[in-house]
Amino acid sequence: MKTLVLNAGSSSHKAALFDFAKGETALWRSQLDWTHQAGRVELTAQTADGRQHQAVLATEDKTTGLRWMLDTLVEGPVQVLSALNEIKAVGHRVVHGGRDYQQSIPITPAVKATIQQLFPLAPSHNPANLQGIEAMESILAAVPQVAVFDTAFHAQMPAAASTYPGPYEWVEQGIQRYGFHGVSHRYVAHRTAELMHCELSDLQLITCHLGNGCSLSAIRDGISVDTTMGFTPLDGLMMGSRSGSVDPGILFYLMRQDHCTPDELDTLLNKAAGLKGISGLSNDLRQVLEAAEQGSDRAQLAFDMFIHILRRQIGAMLGSLGRLDALVFTAGIGENSATVWQAACQNWEFLGLQLDPAKLQRSSTDQDIAAAESKVRVYVIHTQEEWAIAQDCLKILGA
Ligand code: AMP
Repeated sequence: MKTLVLNAGSSSHKAALFDFAKGETALWRSQLDWTHQAGRVELTAQTADGRQHQAVLATEDKTTGLRWMLDTLVEGPVQVLSALNEIKAVGHRVVHGGRDYQQSIPITPAVKATIQQLFPLAPSHNPANLQGIEAMESILAAVPQVAVFDTAFHAQMPAAASTYPGPYEWVEQGIQRYGFHGVSHRYVAHRTAELMHCELSDLQLITCHLGNGCSLSAIRDGISVDTTMGFTPLDGLMMGSRSGSVDPGILFYLMRQDHCTPDELDTLLNKAAGLKGISGLSNDLRQVLEAAEQGSDRAQLAFDMFIHILRRQIGAMLGSLGRLDALVFTAGIGENSATVWQAACQNWEFLGLQLDPAKLQRSSTDQDIAAAESKVRVYVIHTQEEWAIAQDCLKILGA
């Protein structure tokens, strides 16, 4: 079954085509970037056999851009299909599924209406996700579509973990911890169980998704029982340009002292904080580490804070588990930075967690970097969110 996966954002669209007969490597991947030039969209595409394509189209219309992107599947340098009707399913990454969706689901008018009702909770994501769904409905009219929600994996968190200690009215208003990166946390949890030759239901894990956005999930019996992101993806860990958790009193102070508006605070905490805000240099950890090595005190502080907050939150996740079988690192930082693995794991020797220094070289395959005698395994796993979305399509529609 050939399955297309679409991650539709407000300024970029990422798509991948999988053929289950050929395994988890995408046959074709493509990206549309709408950010560089007004009125133009840039396309990049590549195939599993190494062919590449780049082009620019003068349009502002997202559906036109997506139609153009799908045309590269059937003609030109990255062609991999003879006709679009070979595509049997489309899986969509949808950021917010609210309380309603604990699992992936075939898209119906009722599902679309719920995604729309959730616009206020994910104003920069759900509208773009719905637009992607509607574009695919118009381009691939007869093809069944599936919504895979970033929040769904966390939707079974116990109320004590998902409820904020505000007034009880917040519960009725849907102001609660939803958590995000669920597709990634779920995928790496299953992969860890596979690598440990165990049932996921027998394991207690902490998964660390450390990319531009960062979050942790405490996983018990295959269920996310706690996570660091909250009502929005701003909560929790220090990130590339997002602050993570800060004392909300700071916001009142800035509103009163500096007359900051909600939009200014939003920009400050989402775009000018985190590694970028503290280092004054970049949201990219590689550049922050480089500057720290060259003697930048602010870059060193940014890195030290990133690690301190990560360890503090790993400790918080431990509090939601009864034991720890494995700590799992994934995403851009989590998959690549031996400096972060070492620094993040330093505090946990008292749990019997020990890294193997010989295993800290980056390897292209998923690996266990713990010492043989370590009581806690430590995995570095390449997250494959698109593949996880495609697999959900197969589960739901394949039969
Ligand atoms: P993602 O959001 O998963 O694509 O992750 C992107 C981020 O991963 C970048 O902004 C970098 O901060 C980080 N990253 C990627 N490679 C490395 C590396 N070798 N060392 C440290 N950080 C990295």
